[in-house]
Amino acid sequence: MDQIEETHELNLEVRGMTCDSCAVHVERALRRVPGVREAAVPGWKSGRARVVAEGGINPSALLASVAEAGYTATVRGTGPAPNASLTEPRNHADDGVKPAQGRDGKHNGGGDFDLMVIGHGSAGFAAAIKGAELGARVALVGSGRIGGTCVNVGCVPSKTIIRAMEQVRQAGDRRFRGVQTMAGRIDWPEVIGHKDELVNDMRQKKYIDVLEAYPEITYLEGWARLTGLNGVEIAGKRYTPGKIVIATGASPWAPPLPGLAEVGYLDSTSALDLKELPRSMIVLGGNAVGLELAQVYARAGSQVTVAELLPRIAPFEDEDVSAALTEYLEQEGLRIVPGFETAKVTRRDGRFSVTGTKNGAEVVLEAEQILVATGRRPNTADMGLDEAGVRLGARGEVLVNEFLQTHNPFVYAAGDVTGRDMFVYVASYDGMLAVENALAGAARVYDTSDIPRVTFTDPQVASAGLTESQARERYLQVRVTSLPMSVVPRAQAARDTRGLVKLVADDATNRLLGIHILAPEAGEMIQAAVLAMRFGITLTQLHETMFPYLTNAEALKLAVLSFEKDVAKLSCCAG
Ligand SMILES: Cc1cc2nc3c(=O)[nH]c(=O)nc-3n(C[C@H](O)[C@H](O)[C@H](O)COP(=O)(O)OP(=O)(O)OC[C@H]3O[C@@H](n4cnc5c(N)ncnc54)[C@H](O)[C@@H]3O)c2cc1C
Repeated sequence: MDQIEETHELNLEVRGMTCDSCAVHVERALRRVPGVREAAVPGWKSGRARVVAEGGINPSALLASVAEAGYTATVRGTGPAPNASLTEPRNHADDGVKPAQGRDGKHNGGGDFDLMVIGHGSAGFAAAIKGAELGARVALVGSGRIGGTCVNVGCVPSKTIIRAMEQVRQAGDRRFRGVQTMAGRIDWPEVIGHKDELVNDMRQKKYIDVLEAYPEITYLEGWARLTGLNGVEIAGKRYTPGKIVIATGASPWAPPLPGLAEVGYLDSTSALDLKELPRSMIVLGGNAVGLELAQVYARAGSQVTVAELLPRIAPFEDEDVSAALTEYLEQEGLRIVPGFETAKVTRRDGRFSVTGTKNGAEVVLEAEQILVATGRRPNTADMGLDEAGVRLGARGEVLVNEFLQTHNPFVYAAGDVTGRDMFVYVASYDGMLAVENALAGAARVYDTSDIPRVTFTDPQVASAGLTESQARERYLQVRVTSLPMSVVPRAQAARDTRGLVKLVADDATNRLLGIHILAPEAGEMIQAAVLAMRFGITLTQLHETMFPYLTNAEALKLAVLSFEKDVAKLSCCAG
């Protein structure tokens, strides 16, 4: 076959691919050929590959390399390369950033690794493992404690302390009168010690040991910085991986309130490691993390005030749920101050003072400690992202398209660093999806429309889909029902009837649009409704399904029935 002088893009037909790994093998084989700048197979089922090559490349070399990998390729077309992107999902403009050079000064095609994942938290681990499963040479880069937020300073430590406080409450006065007397019985340093044990154990089993089980993943320790289109520098060494996934997570963020930075404050990380119990605490921020920690400290014996800027706590949950949760927390002795706009923070004689306004009137809050739980911001500073053509949003989040691809076609992003849906299961879903798209051209679209959310207060808030007001804005025929937990036999038997189950449905399709549960262990109750929403199960089908008696799961069926009848008048089971 003749040499091609001016052509930079070649389209190949590839036969013999039967799975995602095949696509990776073919891509790798093509990238190995000298002169290939990039190669992409848009999914094994496509039966094709696209190559961008420097002028003068001999197409026979491409075909031979594919054949060596065990597949058959034919050149179907050639032409000038349109832009740097070869990956099907990309829909951003070319930013004109040049690919990095290999260590030998020449571009090395696929680079040292097929995939480099930056960040060793949940998104990073999921991405690296998926890469290994697809047969790629993977590097996982981490700086800081392996495992990232969830295991070290997020889900695991917070939930074990919350559970400890729930057990204390259950052992104490069920009518909440005993909250203050419980304080004397809590050995706080022991609670923190047990938390540390669990964190260390889970970090070892779920991250360090897991990494050892994947010898195909190379672990690189150090801070990663991007250098050009697909170059990365770690601890003074340069790499040019085929694709990059940024999974660097997020960190606690505090608003620039006058005086706050000067006085010092707790964030969620330090609040989970406090060695001594404060007598009193102000929590700024009444969303999930703030509320969970506020209740922990209140149950441990601190006098806790929650100040929230928005008109209600749990501001993104259904209004009925927010209102009922406020009531339960107040019954436990927490002071809830919604609509509070902070003006300044000061500290004198070991006490914090937060001055603000509520309904136009000045309010001053005072306490021994202050916890700022006003959200988290993506970790994107000092990573060379701008220079690499990876664009950031107003909150520093990496901007991605629906395939999790950034404005740089070699770079994808996953998890909290994208600034949305900051849950660990979303991070891990992201990591896998980004890699399937980056390596196998799977063109999978990020879809979290039915994502369940749980706030681990007691009672818990578990929800998915639309709130009543969101549904009324978008749908014409919305039906709503709210079932008090007091009519659920399991709650009666457990003698804890706090909460409600609220369903929002579309009358036209007879399907659920949203579910909002406030109940002890509501997180264990939500999943049946999530499945119903995801797979279009109708209210009639839910009605016809058996739910076991004397379980909280039965509350869903009772709630469905409550659209039509007075559930309090049923004799026994949800029938
Ligand atoms: C108090 C709290 C409670 C939570 N509870 C829950 C819960 O109950 N359920 C739930 O689903 N979610 C919960 N979350 C959220 C959940 O923890 C996060 O959504 C999830 O851990 C994010 O994972 P990630 O992989 O995106 O980021 P991370 O886990 O933060 O991992 C990113 C890693 O990258 C490293 N890194 C950063 N920059 C670089 C660099 N340049 N080079 C190398 N390494 C770098 C970081 O040090 C970090 O280790 C909670 C969060 C908090 C704070």
